[in-house]
Amino acid sequence: MSLQACAAVSMQHNPPICPYCDKPARLVTGARLFVGRENVAHKHFWWCEPCDAYVGCYENSPTHKPVGRLADTALRKAKREFHGVFDILYLAGFERLSRIRGGRANKQDCRSVAYKWLATHMGIDIRYCNVGAFDLEQCLKAKKICETLGNELLHKFQTEGDRK
Ligand SMILES: [Zn+2]
Repeated sequence: MSLQACAAVSMQHNPPICPYCDKPARLVTGARLFVGRENVAHKHFWWCEPCDAYVGCYENSPTHKPVGRLADTALRKAKREFHGVFDILYLAGFERLSRIRGGRANKQDCRSVAYKWLATHMGIDIRYCNVGAFDLEQCLKAKKICETLGNELLHKFQTEGDRK
């Protein structure tokens, strides 16, 4: 086997372990997981069929590096709900900064700042503060923080805006 072929094989055989059953996940495409959803049909996912848990891969990753841990139905629901509150929060921060700086603000930077804020309140290292890495308990905790402390921030942003 050529060195390149060897590297290709070794890169393909790097499945993440399913956190629910401790068995290696299987690489599939969206066509297998989401019947009828053309927009994700060509994308790759690591899937554990018995646990119905999966995770997407980084675009253009030759090793199909997963974007986080595998998530089962309950975790996927919690992640969606987390995004429902967290995204509102960081986008409000972005709008506020844009207003202050006259349109010069970076959405991605604001998202990072929001994650730093969240990490502080969750008492975890910023390196591990990413929804893709959260387990169910962390996801619920993060959502709660965004709902309570985050809403206080939103209120503050709002009253600031009203003063102008
Ligand atoms: Zn599993």
